[in-house]
Amino acid sequence: MKIIVVDIEATCWRKNPPPGEQNEIIEVGVCLLDTETLTPSHKKSILVKPTRSKVSDFCTKLTTLTQEQVDTGISFAEACAMLEKEYESKAHIWVSWGNYDRKMFESQCISFGVPYPFHEQHINLKELHGTVMNKGQKMGMARAVKSVGLELIGTHHRGDDDAWNIARVLAVMLEAHGQGILEQS
Ligand code: AMP
Ligand code: MG
Repeated sequence: MKIIVVDIEATCWRKNPPPGEQNEIIEVGVCLLDTETLTPSHKKSILVKPTRSKVSDFCTKLTTLTQEQVDTGISFAEACAMLEKEYESKAHIWVSWGNYDRKMFESQCISFGVPYPFHEQHINLKELHGTVMNKGQKMGMARAVKSVGLELIGTHHRGDDDAWNIARVLAVMLEAHGQGILEQS
């Protein structure tokens, strides 16, 4: 079985969005994890050009993404279509760290009138990792990587690298506890 691991970056500010702007997806990081071989693959960064907000300096400091970079991106609708076409995203269970990524996709699909590109079965790996590996205590993704004996790879807060690191944590969990843990969530 293949699982799709997703991590989004969004426009953000230190506090609330400025008047007239809203948090919007600017990067969909994605990779696959084969649950038999426990090997992550097909890592990709899909840049999305925002239409209802700008990339703030705060956001660039957090993610490294600039307005110029995301201006080269595709539309949110095209990004969703790409996930369906290249990753068969409706046919596989998908995973993200926490519920933020799922909620952002749900609300942005509704507000942009774009079909939801994922399978209905979503695994909140932050919660499952807490339950299975840490006595119910949830932790941030970077800490979780360390807690399973790995080092972060790439740039933290970039979608593709975050997705890759999440897949590596899931691989350790599956190695230690088997595929049965996927039924727990
Ligand atoms: P992450 O996957 O941890 O890189 O976070 C995903 C998105 O959440 C970022 O692109 C931001 O939009 C938002 N975010 C994460 N951390 C912060 C923060 N400290 N302040 C404001 N927004 C944040
Ligand atoms: Mg991220």
